[in-house]
Amino acid sequence: MAEKERITIALAGNPNCGKTTLFNSLTGATAHVGNWPGVTVDKKEGTYKKLSEPIHIIDLPGIYSLSPYTPEEVVSRNYILDEKPNCVINVVDATNLERNLYLTTQLLEIDIPVVVALNMADIVRKNGDKIDAKGLQEKLGVPVVEISALRSEGLKELMDAAYDACHHYRKGTTILEDKELAHLISDVTIAFRGKGVQSPLFHAIKLVELDEIETKMHPELISMVDEYKESHKDDIFADDFEALVADARYKYIAKNYATHYQKNEKSEKNDDGEQVTRSDKIDKVLTHRIWALPIFVLIMFLVFHLTFSEDLFFLNRWFHVEFNHEIFINICTGMGYEGEPMAGLPSPGVFLQNWMGFLTGSLIDWFRSFMPEGQWYTSLVCDGLLTGLDAVLSFVPQVMVLFLFIAILEDSGYMSRVAFILDRAFRKFGLSGRAFIPMLSGFGCSVPAIMATRTLEDKRERNRVIRLMTCFSCGAKAPIWALIAGIGALAGFAGDIFVFSIYLGGIAAAIIFALFMKLFSKDQYVSPFVMELPAYHAPQARNVGAYLWEKFKHYMIKAATIIAAATIVIWFLSNFNWNLTLGLVDIEQSILADLGRVFAYFYYPLGWAQGVDGWKYTVSTITGLIAKEQVVDTMAVLGLNEETVLLTGAQAYSFAVYNLFTIPCFAAIGAAFGEQKGKEFWLTMLWWFVMSYAVAALVFGVGALYGVAIWAGILLTLAIIGLVVAAGIIVTRRNKKVAQAA
Ligand code: GDP
Ligand code: MG
Repeated sequence: MAEKERITIALAGNPNCGKTTLFNSLTGATAHVGNWPGVTVDKKEGTYKKLSEPIHIIDLPGIYSLSPYTPEEVVSRNYILDEKPNCVINVVDATNLERNLYLTTQLLEIDIPVVVALNMADIVRKNGDKIDAKGLQEKLGVPVVEISALRSEGLKELMDAAYDACHHYRKGTTILEDKELAHLISDVTIAFRGKGVQSPLFHAIKLVELDEIETKMHPELISMVDEYKESHKDDIFADDFEALVADARYKYIAKNYATHYQKNEKSEKNDDGEQVTRSDKIDKVLTHRIWALPIFVLIMFLVFHLTFSEDLFFLNRWFHVEFNHEIFINICTGMGYEGEPMAGLPSPGVFLQNWMGFLTGSLIDWFRSFMPEGQWYTSLVCDGLLTGLDAVLSFVPQVMVLFLFIAILEDSGYMSRVAFILDRAFRKFGLSGRAFIPMLSGFGCSVPAIMATRTLEDKRERNRVIRLMTCFSCGAKAPIWALIAGIGALAGFAGDIFVFSIYLGGIAAAIIFALFMKLFSKDQYVSPFVMELPAYHAPQARNVGAYLWEKFKHYMIKAATIIAAATIVIWFLSNFNWNLTLGLVDIEQSILADLGRVFAYFYYPLGWAQGVDGWKYTVSTITGLIAKEQVVDTMAVLGLNEETVLLTGAQAYSFAVYNLFTIPCFAAIGAAFGEQKGKEFWLTMLWWFVMSYAVAALVFGVGALYGVAIWAGILLTLAIIGLVVAAGIIVTRRNKKVAQAA
């Protein structure tokens, strides 16, 4: 006998109605809860174990209707029709009843058991409103259960009702009862039934709506619809059947369902007579026309300050409060380990960072004490593997602290407001406000930043943001800037300006590149900003924890495996010569040195690969592919430090610019590959490479010319600016013509 099929229940509903929250409560899975529709484009599965048998649960992507306009809609529709779950739980945001029930009316047309979960019951209660679930249940003809996914209320009742529904066949019903239309629908339904199609009512209605999938599959039945259309031209909708049907649905919902929601009469109202919730009041401040941006900048500054500052609240700089780090170092913080002692109080991020450095450093020393000295495998394990691992681990605390703040801001509902605030400005550059999150994360680490582009709905926008990612100097690149700021050519007068210009210049470059990407693409479409702003609520430890754990796991697995492998290769190349003489080879004669000398030719036009030390910079840049920390590490191994770097100002700038913009580390490349695949991925690699090479060559060329004669440098700079502007104007004109022709 075949194994008994598992019972499957699918969760369907509008974006942000709380499906994922419900899914997590039911399955205990540590799935991430985000605030954007689109986060759940991947299929999420889990098991509910509190019934007599395990129930398979699926979290479908958020949708507003079952028409095939978005990938989410197609995925959800096909899943319900083809995979035939035993029951669909339609999650409904009770505070937005009318809009949410629009989808419900379509779901009910399918021959499948449906249970309606009225979610956010806690908010309804808090507002002092009332829902008549019983009455709604009678009207809808399917079980209706009030729940709060966030507070895990009513879940047992919901699952009992769903489990029961799984065992009863349900025939589709429709609210489209307008005489003429109902007649047509019934005729088409009979035709579908005659063909043995399942859920004939649903398909019939979709055909009447002239939905894309249905008309393609059943062209032979369209004549029925057309005949009807001829005889029933409507004044308002002409022959737009889809609008006609949508209007009928909304009217029915307003008349028959919405009446079951009673608003609290005594609550505060706005000018339109709508209820003012606590969220609305908070939004009055946080999304204020003028104050929204300054508040946002302040919050962001605080986040970065708490993560990266070595002088918390500027206690030392402004108030001259000093802390004796001699004691700190050994007693509690591990601070100052290896580095110079700091004058101020460390931020939580730096504090943890120091601890981590102290722990891993001690661990490596301890481990080394067991290994025999002078052996090749000691060198491989200690100088190679463990040092590489140390480099990765050392950034974990700060990255995690940063993500903790982001998770809190996100779970509380603030991040969706930020995207909303920034949307207007971003739109001018062909991006939507949502692109902000991945870009911001890019200053921490490109790996999670690139993964965060998944929240962008539009594929083209996703590609653009991934390509712009290297403009945002990630944490691992910071040591490079610190080193270069201290070299002879820049030290004393221009070091801080240099670092500032790298960060600010990166942002400026991103804006210019984004503008150009927008200008040069024939398609000017930016996905519209439809996003529900969920009500604010205190961040939930479970959601934040799950988010952090997911990031941590990913960071560790990807980075650690890749870095471990790469470190072995570098160790091998720098410890062997071509005769494969084992270890203890002069590094100048190593395989690495020879390879570096070959590649140096290629980088010659960028300036820094010229001269006797050219191969060292070349090798360091290339090992930066493993991890950007590796650039400075490799330079140190090859004997390059603040005193020995003899680059000119132009060469140093070119070196920095190249390392900023170029192909990021393997982990980030892997992340990009995961998000793009195929042609788009290779285009991204090409963009990163060509763009960084070109800009670095330009920087070196212009800089060198300034060195020769100021006036020549100024002329060239003006010429370049002129060219860029001219290209922009020409392309804009061309696009306008294309748009007019179309
Ligand atoms: P999805 O897009 O349908 O998966 O929605 P999510 O599960 O991501 O939830 C969207 C937002 O609504 C999140 O901020 C949730 O914390 C919040 N939320 C979900 N269910 C409830 C609930 O029952 N009560 C309250 N107050 N908030 C909820
Ligand atoms: Mg979701």
